[in-house]
Amino acid sequence: METVFLLTRFMIMFYPISYHEPIFRPPSEALSLILQVTLGCSWNKCAFCEMYKSKNFKVRNEEDVFSEIDHLKGLNFRAKKLFLADGDAFVLSTAKLLRLLEKLNSSFNPVRVSAYAIAKNINNKSLEELIKLKEAGLKLLYIGIESGDDEVLRRIHKGETYNSTLDAMLKLNEAGIKSSVMILTGLGGEKYFEQHAINSAKLVSAAKPEFLSTLVLSHPFGVNHFIKQFDGEYIEQKVNGLLEELELFIKETNLENTVFRSDHASNYLVLKGFLSRDKEEFLRQIRFAIENPGKAYLRDEWQRGL
Ligand code: SF4
Repeated sequence: METVFLLTRFMIMFYPISYHEPIFRPPSEALSLILQVTLGCSWNKCAFCEMYKSKNFKVRNEEDVFSEIDHLKGLNFRAKKLFLADGDAFVLSTAKLLRLLEKLNSSFNPVRVSAYAIAKNINNKSLEELIKLKEAGLKLLYIGIESGDDEVLRRIHKGETYNSTLDAMLKLNEAGIKSSVMILTGLGGEKYFEQHAINSAKLVSAAKPEFLSTLVLSHPFGVNHFIKQFDGEYIEQKVNGLLEELELFIKETNLENTVFRSDHASNYLVLKGFLSRDKEEFLRQIRFAIENPGKAYLRDEWQRGL
């Protein structure tokens, strides 16, 4: 999936509740209260993802979660933004999520509750259920689309397709729940980068998320570990190849008012703005970086923080 940063141990030490580590959250949830309602990821099969390999998926006991909320409330803990962890907390049934949102509303009156989701979590809920969840305070879902290309999705064992992802996104839009989606540059390698970029751009253009970000595929256990999981031939791209893929992706997008970021630690080139307003400027910066690697500001490997 998914755009992630490890919650620092420093923060965990001072949180008045205990966590089942490792914990991941989107960068934009840095100031949110993180509430672990599930452990791990219900899918946990994506070839590139090592986030939850140390955990067996589990729905946490509702009483335990509620007693943590009561404890925080007793401490007068202020929580205006809440992020539900772990990997796909939106897998919880609508009934459970509604009970949880009601509890959070009466305890903290938050302005925003968000969670990670995978497309199947959304498709397993009806439009009416999504609307109820939105009305109860679920405002934003983070979805690791990764790619809009069916072949790449199949080769990385995402368990989703272009159509299943688009169905989920359109349903979310109709329900009024905002989405922040991630595309993973480098996922198809040299062999599939074109179709990966073009079909990913096609998918996000049709889905029209409020927020879009690109991350660069990284290999915490080495590229060979990923190659073993990838169903097919994987040829790793060099930095220029990754930039050319990003250029093609941006060029093919047709969006009106989506916030775009490539500022996750994994990226070489940081871009921030709106698509389509800043599309030409993004393309200019990417082309400059491709043609002038010594002059453009590209992060070194050590700066990528992975
Ligand atoms: S769905 Fe997300 S969290 Fe789960 S294995 Fe795939 S990338 Fe990892």
